[in-house]
Amino acid sequence: MEKKILVGTNNKHKLEEIKHILSAFPFEIVSLQDIHLSSDVEENGATYLENAFIKAKHFSQASGLPCISDDTGLEIEILQGKPGIHSARWAGVEGEGRYKANNEKLLWELRNIPLEQRKACFRCTIAFVHGQDLVFHCEGICHGRIAFEPRGKNGFGYDPFFQVDGYDKTFAELPDHVKNQISHRAIALQEFQKRFSALSKSQFGV
Ligand code: IMP
Repeated sequence: MEKKILVGTNNKHKLEEIKHILSAFPFEIVSLQDIHLSSDVEENGATYLENAFIKAKHFSQASGLPCISDDTGLEIEILQGKPGIHSARWAGVEGEGRYKANNEKLLWELRNIPLEQRKACFRCTIAFVHGQDLVFHCEGICHGRIAFEPRGKNGFGYDPFFQVDGYDKTFAELPDHVKNQISHRAIALQEFQKRFSALSKSQFGV
């Protein structure tokens, strides 16, 4: 039987990206939907790692499978790192309209700020959990600037505003396969794959 790893997220965009990035991973990647697990968990940690751990532990315990979860934030230099761990609900809106509301708040907060002061990064933490235990975690950071207006249709969340360093484009203007090579999530998951293959199977029982 093929070995499995669960991706502990209810965010379909993150799931798609993680599956794409891990397409050569030697274990079968399963989603919450694949195993009919439809629970949610409150992310009340004080750090990305705490939140990623809370999610992965919850889903690993509920499924019996080893699980990875991602917690990500957008950190804007001139806003002293905000919205950071509050990126998902920055504008206070849940559900459908949250990306639009967050992006409107982003535009407002950075009104009149020139390009050279619009530095930002995405920071992604991946927690790899089996049962109760954090096996290890990895981080990926991607630097860029916040554009003056939204550009592009790909990606999700803050992508139309995030102009990646070294590219003249926002994440939403880049094809998926390019974002999935250079993003914060790609960097964290490349590290995950390296560390995973260096671990002996007996260390985490999968
Ligand atoms: P969380 O990691 O589920 O707490 O989500 C953080 C929030 O950051 C998401 O709701 C998105 O708004 C945003 N976000 C996370 N990853 C990305 C990304 O790759 N691109 C754009 N926005 C993202």
